[in-house]
Amino acid sequence: MNKKIAVIKGDGIGPEIITEAMKVLDTVAQKYGHTFEYTQLLMGGCSIDANGVPLTDETIATCKASDAVLMGSIGGDTNTSPWYKLPANLRPEAGLLGIRKALGLFANLRPCLLYPQLSGACPLKEEISAKGFDMLIMRELTGGLYFGERKTEEVNGVMTAIDTLSYNENEIRRIAIKAFEVAMKRRKKVTSVDKANVLDSSRLWRKVVNEVAKDYPEVTLEHMLVDNSAMQLVKDPAQFDVMVTENMFGDILSDEASMITGSIGMLPSASMNETKFGLYEPSGGSAPDIAGQNKANPIATILSAAMMLRYSFDLIDEADAVEEAVRKTLDDGYRTGDIMSDGCKAVSCSEMGDLICQRI
Ligand code: NAD
Repeated sequence: MNKKIAVIKGDGIGPEIITEAMKVLDTVAQKYGHTFEYTQLLMGGCSIDANGVPLTDETIATCKASDAVLMGSIGGDTNTSPWYKLPANLRPEAGLLGIRKALGLFANLRPCLLYPQLSGACPLKEEISAKGFDMLIMRELTGGLYFGERKTEEVNGVMTAIDTLSYNENEIRRIAIKAFEVAMKRRKKVTSVDKANVLDSSRLWRKVVNEVAKDYPEVTLEHMLVDNSAMQLVKDPAQFDVMVTENMFGDILSDEASMITGSIGMLPSASMNETKFGLYEPSGGSAPDIAGQNKANPIATILSAAMMLRYSFDLIDEADAVEEAVRKTLDDGYRTGDIMSDGCKAVSCSEMGDLICQRI
C-alpha cells in the first residue's frame, strides 16, 4: 500500500514526538511492505515565525491532497511566548481551528484506555481500576451550542444571554454512521448520550441514531442520559465501548474520561470527515516546560499513528501490532518521566520510540 501522509510537527515537544511516531510508521512500512510518503508542513507558532500566519493556504492544500495528516502539537508558553501578544486570529491555536474547518473534520475520536500496567495512575478506586477499561468517545465537533447563534441583550431592563443548541438530521446522521463504523472495528457496542428527557435536539438525535442503527444489526445500541453517563464513567467505565454524543456533552465527557486514564502522554486522538480522511494527534499540548529535552512521552502520538493505520488506511493487523508493541514495552517496565513508578526503568522520548519499534 502506498499512502501520502502530511506531517505537521508543530511546536514545543511536537517535533520530538512526531519523530518517534514516524520511526514507528517506517518500521511498519518495512515489515508489512508499505510505502508512506511524508510531506512536512508548518502550522502554529513555527508557521507564524516563517510566514507571519499560523496556517497557510499551502498547508491546507497539501493536507487535502494527502491520505491523512499526522500532527504533533502547536502553541507555546501562553505567558511568555511573543505569539500570544498577537491578535487572536493570528495566534498558534487559530491554525488548529482553521485546519479543522478547512478539512471538514466533524467527528472527534478519543480512545480512553487504562493499561493494567498504569492502573496506579488512575484516580478511581482500585476495585474499579483493576478491571481496566478501553473505550472511545466520539464527539460531534462542528455543530451544537458552540456554533449556534448567540447574543447578549437587555430585555425589560435585565441583561440576558442566549446561546442556541441546534442540530439538523444530516449532522446527526453522519456522526452516528461514523460511530457505528468505528464500533464495527471494535467491540460492537454504541452508547448514544443525550438529554432526550428535556431537549428537542436530543430527541431528534435519538430518533436519527435509532434509524442509523438499523443498518448495523451486529452492533448493540443503548441510549444514556448525559448526567447518568458522567456518573457511569467513574462508577463502571469498563461497560463502554463507543460513546457518541453532541459537541458540548462530548467536550465535558471526553475530559472526564481522559482524567481517569491517569496520563495525558498516553492519549491519542483523531478528527475525521465523511470519508476515511483524518487528522491524527495526541490529546495533549506542546508541553513547553519539557520541550527540547528528549523527555516527552511519545506514546500518545505513536497510538495516534496506529489510529491512522486503522481508521484511514484499514491496516488493522498493522494497527494491532503497534498497539501490542506499546503494551509489551510497558510490560517490560519502560517508562518516560510522566508515567514513571517505583521499580520501572526510566527512558527518554527517543529510547521509548526505539523500544516500541523493536517490538513491532
Ligand atoms: P500541555 O498538554 O502542553 O501540558 C500540560 C502538562 O502535561 C505539562 O506539565 C506537560 O509537560 C505535560 N505533558 C503534555 N504532554 C506530554 C507528553 N507527551 N509527555 C509528557 N508530559 C506531557 O498543556 P498546556 O501547558 O496547557 O499548553 C501548552 C501549549 O499547548 C499551549 O500553547 C496550548 O495552547 C497548547 N495546546 C495545544 C494543543 C494542540 O496542539 N492540539 C492542545 C492543547 C494545548
